[in-house]
Amino acid sequence: MATRCGTIAIIANPAAQNGRGAWTAVEAASLLRAKVGEGGFKLLLTERAGHATALAAQLGPEVGAVVALGGDGLINEVACGLMERDADERPVLGVIPAGSGNDYAATLGMASSLPAAIDQILAFRTGPADVGRVNGHYFVETLSFGLDAAIALDTVERRVRTGRAGTRLYLESAVDQLFHHLNIYDFTARFEGVPNAEPDVRTVEAAAYLLAVQIGPTYGGHFRITPDAALDDGLFDVCWAVPELAPRRALAVLLAARFGRHTGNKHIHFQRSRALTLDFDQEPPAQIDGEKITGTHFAIDCIPHALTVVLGH
Ligand SMILES: [Mg+2]
Repeated sequence: MATRCGTIAIIANPAAQNGRGAWTAVEAASLLRAKVGEGGFKLLLTERAGHATALAAQLGPEVGAVVALGGDGLINEVACGLMERDADERPVLGVIPAGSGNDYAATLGMASSLPAAIDQILAFRTGPADVGRVNGHYFVETLSFGLDAAIALDTVERRVRTGRAGTRLYLESAVDQLFHHLNIYDFTARFEGVPNAEPDVRTVEAAAYLLAVQIGPTYGGHFRITPDAALDDGLFDVCWAVPELAPRRALAVLLAARFGRHTGNKHIHFQRSRALTLDFDQEPPAQIDGEKITGTHFAIDCIPHALTVVLGH
C-alpha cells in the first residue's frame, strides 16, 4: 500500500538502551508491515556512531519520510544527514521516541507508545522546524553550557555505568553537581537579530551557572527551561541563570524548571535572537542534543524552517 509520504525509511540504533533498540525496531517494522505492507517502508539499522548521518544523507528519491527511532542523539545524527542534502531534497523528518532522552519527540508532540507514534507518523501532519548550528554542528533541540550540561553528561556517564535510566538518575546527578560542583562561568554573549529592538543587537557580559540555547522548550528529559520556545519562529530562546544561589536554592529553581515555573525568578534571564556568539573565559561543560562538545568560542545561528517534521498534535 502506498503511503502519503512515499517510502518511509526507519533509522534505528539496535544497540540503544542496552540492546532493547533492536527489539523496538523489530516491533516497529511489524506494526508498519501490517499498516503499509512490506513495500511501504524500509528499516535501516545503524552499525556505529555517526552511521545514521551517512544513512540519512544517502536515502534515495523514493523516500518521502525518514523516521528516527531512538533518542535525541540518534535524531541529531539523522538531522545532520538531512542537512547535508539540498534544502529541496530533504525528506520529512519523523521521530519515534525510543531513547533515554526524548526531548525532541516531546517538542514534536509524539506519543510515547510505539503503536500510537506510528499512527501519528502515518497521519503525516507536517510543519516546518528551525535547526540550530554551532561552529558548523547542527542541533535540533538544545545547546547548553555549564551546570545543566554537566548534569546531562554526568547522567549519561551514570547510565552507562549502572544501566539505569529516568528522571531519578538525572536528579541524582543534579544533586551531586549542585552540592559538589556548582561552578560559575564568565561569558560574553553578543546577540544578533533580537526581535523588536533597534539596533537589533545586544551584548551581555555576565557570570552564569548555566546557559541554554534552545530551539524547543525542553532539555535534560523534559525540563521546561524555555517554556515559550517555538520550533518555527526563526529564533533561539536563550536562558541563563546568574549567581548567587546557595545549592539548596539552586536545586529549588531546578525543580521548578521541570514545570517551567522558574521564569519569574530574579536569577533567571531570557533573550530571543536569530544568532549569537558566546565567549567563555574558561571551557565550560557543553552539550549539543545530549552529546558533549568542547571549546570556549561558539558561533551560533538559527536556520529557519530548515526541516519539515511530522507533528504529533
Ligand atoms: Mg524558536
